[in-house]
Amino acid sequence: MLLSGTTKLLGVIGHPIAHSLSPIMHNAALTHLGLDYVYLPLPVKPEDLEVAIAGLAAIGMRGFNVTIPHKQAVMGLMSEISAIAQAVGAVNTVSWTESGWVGTNTDVAGFLAPLQSLSKIWSQKSAVILGNGGAARAVVAGCTQLGCEQVQVVGRDVEKLREFLYSWNLAAIPANLSVHLWDDLPTLLPQADLLVNTTPLGMYPHVERSPLSPSELELLKLGAIAYDLIYTPNPTRFLQLAQANGAIAIDGLEMLIHQGAAALEGWIQQPAPVDIMRQALLDRLKIAK
Ligand code: NAP
Repeated sequence: MLLSGTTKLLGVIGHPIAHSLSPIMHNAALTHLGLDYVYLPLPVKPEDLEVAIAGLAAIGMRGFNVTIPHKQAVMGLMSEISAIAQAVGAVNTVSWTESGWVGTNTDVAGFLAPLQSLSKIWSQKSAVILGNGGAARAVVAGCTQLGCEQVQVVGRDVEKLREFLYSWNLAAIPANLSVHLWDDLPTLLPQADLLVNTTPLGMYPHVERSPLSPSELELLKLGAIAYDLIYTPNPTRFLQLAQANGAIAIDGLEMLIHQGAAALEGWIQQPAPVDIMRQALLDRLKIAK
């Protein structure tokens, strides 16, 4: 990658940002495509968000990703927000247009990509989602897009679950969405076709942890899909245990790659080299596949 006075700027804002893997996968893709772009990690403190966004427009930034803690706050600084980002209530991808910054959410597309490649019919399927935080919102929107018959969100706090349920725009509330406490899992798990972990349980360095015990995972039916949003370690203990019980495992790396690919395609208006992006991440994480 040769930087020059004509190099176009992309990047990711967050705080902290040093851990972000997005520069690795995007710069690998841009270099592979031979495009005169660079993708930068940009540390932006919450109190500097507004001035930073104005500054990015002033220096001609073409687009940027948004990560913790700005995914909600940035919404108030957009000229336009896509329907999917409004439904999820978070923006993770921003593009510069003639009318200013336009925000969207590619986490939903990222979550869906590995499921869609399985070519299943989802209309009679039941999804169980562990956790009711930010990522769970993209997962609920994704399961609704798939057309799942039931979308059951499991959390540990009644108040937070209630807030989660009522936080959806009335028009966008999935009719099939219900919320449950962890105690309900013995009833929910045997019916689950898709089980998604959106909690951080099992994430490095606590790699021995799992949101569900081996005996809970034994309740899964054969051939159910276990999807962990965590990508380090890869696979997580949750996925290893689920696979040992006959589940199909999907790891969080695929969501990370595909949300990045969807963002990049929006900026450069051409297909993203998904395999190159995956290999760059595997090399960085030193995962052999
Ligand atoms: P978040 O907003 O903090 O939500 C975390 C959720 O997990 C909350 O509902 C929280 O419950 C629950 N939780 C945390 N600790 C728990 C525990 N000990 N027992 C039971 N529940 C617990 O975080 P997030 O942004 O949704 O991210 C969640 C995970 O997804 C992280 O591991 C993140 O790295 C991963 N992620 C991956 C991708 C990807 O592209 N692969 C994208 C986004 C996120 P309370 O609400 O009760 O606290």
